[in-house]
Amino acid sequence: MTSEETRRDLVVYGRRLYEKGFVASTDGNLSARLPGGGFLATPTGLPKGELSEALIASLDGDGRPTQGVPSSEWPMHLAVYRARPDAGAVVHAHPPFATALACAGRTLDRPILSEVLISLGAVPLAAFELPSTEDLAEGVARSLGGHAAVLLANHGAVTVGPDTRAAYYRMETLEQAARIQLYADLLGGGRSLPEPAVQALKGLGEGYKLAPLPCAACEGCPVAAGESGAVVLRREELARLLAEFARVNGRA
Ligand SMILES: [Zn+2]
Repeated sequence: MTSEETRRDLVVYGRRLYEKGFVASTDGNLSARLPGGGFLATPTGLPKGELSEALIASLDGDGRPTQGVPSSEWPMHLAVYRARPDAGAVVHAHPPFATALACAGRTLDRPILSEVLISLGAVPLAAFELPSTEDLAEGVARSLGGHAAVLLANHGAVTVGPDTRAAYYRMETLEQAARIQLYADLLGGGRSLPEPAVQALKGLGEGYKLAPLPCAACEGCPVAAGESGAVVLRREELARLLAEFARVNGRA
């Protein structure tokens, strides 16, 4: 992914955070690691619904701004990048259901939904620290550990991913899961999936990846041509694979 594409994604998914109601006003921030070193980050004090590519801040490999002023939560993003060399992007937002859980001191650690186990896994809770402080930055990176997402007590949530798009969709999954968990709690509490299913789903999660976007704009696109790992299956091939999967897992 080029620097231009990385910059564009920060705008696209930053605006989407606002449109989905995951942030209000100037809340939230996004950043991404650049392929050649350095980072891009959303600017301080700007509503995410008003983002544009020219307003994105640039930072060098040590996290020092080289153009524009990054979010006041940039130290939190940098702490995550330092702890997680695999993180290509970090998204921070205040989605209402996930943030409600975080305000109640709860986590998303009960295995009640298959999709959440596959794409997100367990979500820990980082202790409250004042926003924009080093204590928050270090606490979030420590609590995140090797997870895909972390709740921030009395504050919001952080997700990471190989790129901005993946980190954004983890935030969507997190918010949907938090909403369903709350509804299930109102109905007496969600029942956990059976343990063998939990183990099988955790195994599936190892290989979970978002399908690459077909790149309609470029002719001879390597992604569309399947040259970067994209696989195109005919209907009967997919049916055969699914039947094989069910047989191996003792479901047929
Ligand atoms: Zn925040």
